[in-house]
Amino acid sequence: MSFQAWFESLENPGRRWPLTDVIYRDPDSGSLLDVVHDVDALKARSADEWKALFDSRYRRSAWPYGSGVWGKKEWVYPQIADESIVSLFEGGENLFWADRLGQQLGLDDLWIKQCGNNQTGSFKDLGMTVLVSAVREMIRQGKEIRAVACASTGDTSAALSAYCAAAGLKAIVFLPKNKISTAQLIQPLANGAEVIALETDFDGCMEIVQKVTESHGIYLANSMNPLRLEGQKTVAIEIVQQFDWSPVDFVIVPGGNLGNIYAFAKGFQLLLDTGILKRAPRLVCAQAEHANPLYRAYLNGFESFEPIVAGPTQASAIRIGNPVSYPRAVRALRAFDGIVEQASEDELANASARADRTGLFNCPHTGVALAALQKLVDRGVIQRHHRVVVISTAHGLKFVEHKVGYHSAELPEVTPRYRNVPHDLPADIDHVMRTLDRLI
Ligand SMILES: *Cc1c(COP(=O)(O)O)cnc(C)c1O
Repeated sequence: MSFQAWFESLENPGRRWPLTDVIYRDPDSGSLLDVVHDVDALKARSADEWKALFDSRYRRSAWPYGSGVWGKKEWVYPQIADESIVSLFEGGENLFWADRLGQQLGLDDLWIKQCGNNQTGSFKDLGMTVLVSAVREMIRQGKEIRAVACASTGDTSAALSAYCAAAGLKAIVFLPKNKISTAQLIQPLANGAEVIALETDFDGCMEIVQKVTESHGIYLANSMNPLRLEGQKTVAIEIVQQFDWSPVDFVIVPGGNLGNIYAFAKGFQLLLDTGILKRAPRLVCAQAEHANPLYRAYLNGFESFEPIVAGPTQASAIRIGNPVSYPRAVRALRAFDGIVEQASEDELANASARADRTGLFNCPHTGVALAALQKLVDRGVIQRHHRVVVISTAHGLKFVEHKVGYHSAELPEVTPRYRNVPHDLPADIDHVMRTLDRLI
């Protein structure tokens, strides 16, 4: 059985380009590209056969198929040679039953997919393994690629740097100066990437990297490049697998450049096409109020789209005013009965801190998704019996500045309702006992 995937124009499908071509847009229309699979070939295998194959590989050590991404290789990049694959055993993250948080919100079936539990601490690894592997495949086929570059709000650059370091490739990352966390800055430096800090925002970095990668043998690693989304879509497939291939009702994803929401749609669509899922979930995209161009477009039924200048937000990885994948997000939301919600700084920080009180340590972007969840429960859209999965996109330990700011009550626009501070005491047993009596 031979499975195939290729690039096709998102807006004008028909013409095909091989996945080893260096191409980011349809040269005729300027449209974004999509990776399209030969779905008929995939359908020739039964749903039960696919499930059995994926289950036999899941989290095993047989390289590279134990990876959450490469365990689904036939659905991701079927033709790539195994020797080209650069994998850090990404995926397979735990799906956390948020029982106590669910009870507080009035939900019986609330789950959090911990995508921050990856090599570099965010879901970006899932896409980067595919992109960097594709670069190795291109080089093997004789393409001259001297380096791989991206613009980033912090997590993409960490992932690119780690996968390039693992592959022995040169990484160049463009970051908005002073707008990312300390952990996110030190990650690419530690991995030996060239870090270019620009006096601009993410959208400004994105413009520069697109020009840099037009020539010079430098390959573009942003999610404008649809190879990334092929890896990211495996999260949708894996969630369903973790529920023993049973359906979910709502998936809530924090969105910035809007590639990931489309990746979820692609993953669920393949599950529907192959007959593994009989029922589609509703997709919810959650944005920070200071970076909400998709939310604004949603309010007018996606009639028109206006880029904005994104303001400062604790959810710095989604501080994007002109999302490249806007047309993809609209498709995803239309196909999956989508909803867009937004969260203020106060809402996102308190939603995140409240969840921490139930055993999590989640990032501010997850806070945006949790605040959106709260709003949908309050409106009666999400109800007690619904199976809900919140996508936690990064690990909270990458955002300790945010946590420190929250608990020291120093975040702008935030009144910390779950603040907790250390008790400074002398090393004296009476003092300690008196204090403990008061506290417990
Ligand atoms: C990249 C990122 C997002 C947003 O994903 P998009 O595909 O850009 O919408 C959300 N959260 C975190 C932590 C990220 O790194």
